[in-house]
Amino acid sequence: MTDTLHIIGGGMAGSEAAWQAANAGLNVVIHEMRPQVGTFAHQTGNLAEMVCSNSFRSDDSEQNAVGLLHWEMRAAGGLIMEMADKHQLPAGGALAVDRDAFAEGVTERLRAHPNVRVEEGEITALPDDGHWIIATGPLTSGTLGQAIAAETGADALAFFDAIAPIVYAESIDMDKAWMQSRYDKGETEEEQKAYLNCPMDKDQYEAFIDALLAADKTEFHEGETAGYFDGCLPIEVMAERGRETLRHGPMKPVGLTNPHQPDVKAYAVVQLRRDNKLGTLFNIVGFQTKMKYGAQTDVFKMIPGLENARFARLGGIHRNTFLNSPTLLDAEMRLKSKPNIRFAGQITGVEGYVESAAMGLLAGRLAVAEMQGRTLPPVPETTATGALVTHITGGAEAKTFQPMNVNFGLFPPVEGLKGGRRGRKDRYKAYTDRAKADWQSWLDQ
Ligand SMILES: Cc1cc2nc3c(=O)[nH]c(=O)nc-3n(C[C@H](O)[C@H](O)[C@H](O)COP(=O)(O)OP(=O)(O)OC[C@H]3O[C@@H](n4cnc5c(N)ncnc54)[C@H](O)[C@@H]3O)c2cc1C
Repeated sequence: MTDTLHIIGGGMAGSEAAWQAANAGLNVVIHEMRPQVGTFAHQTGNLAEMVCSNSFRSDDSEQNAVGLLHWEMRAAGGLIMEMADKHQLPAGGALAVDRDAFAEGVTERLRAHPNVRVEEGEITALPDDGHWIIATGPLTSGTLGQAIAAETGADALAFFDAIAPIVYAESIDMDKAWMQSRYDKGETEEEQKAYLNCPMDKDQYEAFIDALLAADKTEFHEGETAGYFDGCLPIEVMAERGRETLRHGPMKPVGLTNPHQPDVKAYAVVQLRRDNKLGTLFNIVGFQTKMKYGAQTDVFKMIPGLENARFARLGGIHRNTFLNSPTLLDAEMRLKSKPNIRFAGQITGVEGYVESAAMGLLAGRLAVAEMQGRTLPPVPETTATGALVTHITGGAEAKTFQPMNVNFGLFPPVEGLKGGRRGRKDRYKAYTDRAKADWQSWLDQ
């Protein structure tokens, strides 16, 4: 048992983890429930099936954090990137792929690997011994989901994400916004100034409600909806319940004084809260939404102070099983309460095909090192892979943890470079140059 690595789930993460481990000489068993047990989104029994779009997003490794993640996975001999490159379709700067050929390619390569065995069937319980990676994704089967929740506590496993938009701090206009917690609550100055506030007068509020009501919204997929209303309503649904609902909910203006206009009482206030320890990202509190992405940027830029906001990610609500990784996982992605189990992929709280595959790649390599009696040095936070794993296993705020795409807001700043929109090109190039050098040194150890 101990010389075999078992992986539950042969999606983006599980397939990449298997490839990394098998190439390093481990015996690997992939336990995949499809085609015996399906999900509402998967259509085939192939490994690494893309359930929706056929895009791996930007392939620009100099100016884009996803493109950088592509680069890092290619440098590590990743199977997902090899097959994506092989089955690429024309799509401008994006890496789009022929989804069937891609998934068939991944499946064939893994099934043909002498160290890999694929066992079909659903795993329904958490293993007590042996080396395991759980990479069952956003649509983890119900029985296994319950077994995970029984181990972690129900509050630490979510079945829906409710993502409020996240804004780059440097793009917020602090001549209009200010830092203050309601009623200056908190013991320390940091706590008393924990929130960033954007004030609205009556006309601005009414125009904002009109825009929310008129915005294009995304519909839920069939089988996706159950239970989400219990948790948190989309902001536009709150607005539909009454024009004043938001002003008495997340946008209430009480307990706050605008230092830019101390004599004017705001009619409503939008609050943002720090989203990472670095303080480079802020989420808009209570603004989970089903508005389409284009509509979100138009509507949210109506908020005073956010006119030029740049979004690290936009809001959403989806069926998505994910752990509260900052509290449950150690820095090597192991479940603290059962360290024979690692988690990888979207269930760890990253979001997207590329991010999930990258977390599979890392989990596979960490498992190899552990099973060979070695300890790998931590992945530098300056790399895209390192920035993501650092975020999910500790950098993110545990209380408000929601799935995250890779973005430059997760990277430690490069000192001495110009901030703001104008300096962006040089800054991103500096981030990606630093990341590539650090990733290569990490791989070479
Ligand atoms: C409806 C929907 C649309 C999406 N659209 C996009 C998109 O357009 N772009 C994007 O980048 N991301 C999208 N995502 C997110 C995408 O699913 C993930 O980013 C990616 O597939 C996650 O990789 P993963 O390996 O973690 O999970 P998956 O790729 O889902 O793989 C998990 C695997 O585990 C298997 N499994 C589950 N439970 C068990 C069990 N108990 N036993 C054995 N096997 C099991 C599943 O069958 C599946 O093959 C979407 C997700 C959903 C649900």
